[in-house]
Amino acid sequence: MRSLRALLTVFLLSPFLFAQTATLHGIDLSDLDRKVDPCNDFYEFANGTWRANNPIPASMVHWSKRWQAGETSKDKLKDILEATAQDKTAATGSTEQIIGDYYGACIDESRVNARGADPLKPWFAKIDAAHDMAGLQQVMDGLHDISIPVPFYLGGQQDYHKPTWVLADIGANGFNMPEKDYYVEPDDRFKEARAKYVAHITTMFTLVGWDQKSSAAAAQTVMGMETKFAEASLALDELRDPSATDHNTTFAQLQAMVPHFDWTEFFHHKRLPLDVDMNMEQPKFMAEFDRQLQQTSLADWKVYLKWNVLNSMASALSAPIEQEDFNFFSKYLGGAQEMKPRWKRCVESTDQYLGEALGKKYVEKYFPPEAKARMQEMVRNLILAMRDDILTRPWMSDETKERAMAKIATFNPKIGYPDKWKDYSKVEIHRDAFFEDNIAGRRFVVEDDLQTVGKPVDRGRWGMTPPTSDAYENPLLNEIVFPAGILQPPAFDMTAVDAVNYGAIGVVIGHEISHGFDDQGAKFDYLGRLRDWWTADDMKQFKERGACVANQFESYFIEPGIHHNGKLVLGESIGDLGGAKIAYLAYMKSLQGKPRPADIDGFTPEQQFFIAWGQFRGDEIRPEQQRLMVESDPHPIAKYRVIGPLSNLPEFQRAFTCKADSPMVRPADKRCEVW
Ligand SMILES: [Zn+2]
Repeated sequence: MRSLRALLTVFLLSPFLFAQTATLHGIDLSDLDRKVDPCNDFYEFANGTWRANNPIPASMVHWSKRWQAGETSKDKLKDILEATAQDKTAATGSTEQIIGDYYGACIDESRVNARGADPLKPWFAKIDAAHDMAGLQQVMDGLHDISIPVPFYLGGQQDYHKPTWVLADIGANGFNMPEKDYYVEPDDRFKEARAKYVAHITTMFTLVGWDQKSSAAAAQTVMGMETKFAEASLALDELRDPSATDHNTTFAQLQAMVPHFDWTEFFHHKRLPLDVDMNMEQPKFMAEFDRQLQQTSLADWKVYLKWNVLNSMASALSAPIEQEDFNFFSKYLGGAQEMKPRWKRCVESTDQYLGEALGKKYVEKYFPPEAKARMQEMVRNLILAMRDDILTRPWMSDETKERAMAKIATFNPKIGYPDKWKDYSKVEIHRDAFFEDNIAGRRFVVEDDLQTVGKPVDRGRWGMTPPTSDAYENPLLNEIVFPAGILQPPAFDMTAVDAVNYGAIGVVIGHEISHGFDDQGAKFDYLGRLRDWWTADDMKQFKERGACVANQFESYFIEPGIHHNGKLVLGESIGDLGGAKIAYLAYMKSLQGKPRPADIDGFTPEQQFFIAWGQFRGDEIRPEQQRLMVESDPHPIAKYRVIGPLSNLPEFQRAFTCKADSPMVRPADKRCEVW
């Protein structure tokens, strides 16, 4: 309790204290659709007018104030990149030269177009030069170096059983459509996607100069091989169970399982010792890989590798190739109507491959230290609320609670940007060669990951770049991470009252904390070990509570015949339910001992809190994107991320005095509560 008291002191001194004066604003009244009763459809009530007045831009697949803020950040990144691209005095290897020339080469569209598909030639020639499977395997080794790891990948991952150590993790990566279902399910929409994919591969090969007949034949070959790989792969909802991919493996076992691949050569190429600690995620997939090494012809393997190079590098090639790639993946599967402008694609590419070099410049200019300090306090308050919440769970034994407390005590929040930046000084970037620059960026990303293998965990590494408008939790490191990019309105707004900030970024923080205790996170202990730290009875109770949430989301339809996969979205839904509840608790606690804040524009503080969540989280989405998300995204669509958790909370029902039979109030026997 001593530490609890200490935290409470900090809590009351929080800078959010001052956010109770009349000059600060409440929720956005103009976003509300007042024709709708909040107890009937809270989603429509909270943000219906904003969505009606702000159609989705042609290049976007969702739209909301949050997405808008993410796109506005790219204007800031553009300013940085244009200034560095024009700076002729930057020394070779300096951050300015590397990001400036990368962006400068990318934006030079006429040069990229003039080269057509020529940059692929050396890579296709390497594949053609292989005279046998041994030669072809050496080509595969080289493709791994440029982030085209097919059909398996090898990367650094924390050892599930030795959490201070990074092992070599071997995973499945055999196909290019978003999820296994696209290859194996009999529904018409998947059949159509398969036919369109074959047509797409055909078109792509014709665009690099192949005749129609060989292109069409190549597409059939690729589809055949990818389908076999998909059949042997775990589905995304199966991958949520960490024990399904937990197979510590020795080199001898790897060789015995996949005897037709030259692992000695591969490990030598990767500069990894043969006795490196290793995990094989999907043995069944690796067996299929071995089968194809024996039974698929050399010629077919060559086609498969060429497709993967072409597909992976499409955005660094000329306009017709990039456009066709967009047409299939982003337009047909994702629902975007047109490509983003080239400058924005170049900003995104720089962020993807040189993220911390660009991110360093971004935080210098746009992330004030005060924002970091305020966020740190808020995270502390939310962690405290989660502690209180767990301690009061009637179904959990003291034994499990004690271990949960240990996990909470070791939570590591990271805010804004890394303490130590990655060193990009050896990345060679030239103004006149975007394709090769892109390859250099890819080599950096691969090498940066590979150098972690066989070493103690570096807890300072970040999994998102600083300008990213998002957040994450990593159960292996027991950390929650909030990049600078999300710490701006509408998530985090210093000109808004506490109710609004707790309802927006507060719920996001609570969501990330709750991930440590969702269906996946709960399986890792305070050190990040995959370990059963629960009593059997508590785990049973926890699973029953999770099943309630899974069933709730399973019942949410996005269109006739298509509903959410409760198992796939379970972790995110537990995160939203727990997040909304503990953010609300933290907000209530912040009001203790103070005069009650006045209503603003007729809304109580409690109502403002919930409306803020609806306004922050709400977005308009294209139907194609909804279908894609239901298949391949662990997040539910925004509508159900608002309606789902709030309809479970008695606090919401009270705030809007909703009748027990309202659509926004789940019947008592169906109400879910995990945390
Ligand atoms: Zn999440």
